[in-house]
Amino acid sequence: MCGIHTIDGDPVGHEHHHHTGPVFYPRARHKSRRAFLGDVGKGTMAMAVITPSILAACSSSEPAANVANTAVSGTEPPATVATTVVSGTNADSAVSGTDEGSTDAEAPADEALRWARTNLGFVSAYVLARGNKAAIVDTGTAGSAEAIGESLQSLGLNYNDVEHVILTHNHGDHAGSIDQVLAAAVNATAYAGEADLNALSNDSISGLVGGEEIFGFETVWSPGHTAGHMAVIDHEASLLIAGDAIWTEDGGVALGPERFNTDTPQALESVKTLASLSFNTLLVGHGDPIEMNADTALADLAATL
Ligand SMILES: [Zn+2]
Ligand SMILES: [Zn+2]
Repeated sequence: MCGIHTIDGDPVGHEHHHHTGPVFYPRARHKSRRAFLGDVGKGTMAMAVITPSILAACSSSEPAANVANTAVSGTEPPATVATTVVSGTNADSAVSGTDEGSTDAEAPADEALRWARTNLGFVSAYVLARGNKAAIVDTGTAGSAEAIGESLQSLGLNYNDVEHVILTHNHGDHAGSIDQVLAAAVNATAYAGEADLNALSNDSISGLVGGEEIFGFETVWSPGHTAGHMAVIDHEASLLIAGDAIWTEDGGVALGPERFNTDTPQALESVKTLASLSFNTLLVGHGDPIEMNADTALADLAATL
């Protein structure tokens, strides 16, 4: 499964050690200012139950949304939500005073980008807000819509405020709740990479090729994990959401297991592409956010490829 593996930093050709239980999920936060509200016990149990479905979800050979839906049905929905609510680079600046990437100091406070992580234990979805409007990036496994709704609430919003739902890619741990999320987010338009659409059952999703502007984000085609994989970057807030193109572990950036990639050489090129961007905060599908100088860490990783 995408999330329970430890990522040892060895980029290619190695076997991954499977760490189950709390090794990955309840990892200590690196930013003490951030609240971590999850129920660790329940989250850990849910993660163990769902492990086989994530193996399927991350496989490159099957339309994972369907697999995950099937495999997860009958288990408890991921009721545990470790929702982390922080503001964007403004908060970093306020706390640390060393936020070299911050360019949005002049932005009206109510239009500053805010984000919340819907931490589903082994995978995360993200809710982003500007004022009273929201965008959702990724939807978790099937049954995650309620947890994402709680993240919206944590930002003072609800599903009616959601204008956009962006899927980074079509794997079931990211697209698994797209139908439920769109049913709730009645005002939203949904998007995913054009090349990933054929594995998504919902035909209301618009295709992206990269370079589109959505909700102030720029989409960045970053193929290899899947053919249509999309990252999104908010240049003003200096924040990149990398989906599964980049993972994080132990406060650093990492490569995802190559056996989940449709094309690993292409995935490594996409890491380089993302490493060429400027961003302070990095949000990923698997692993904790990195909130300071994440682009430097990624450039260091890319330099080894
Ligand atoms: Zn994933
Ligand atoms: Zn994936």
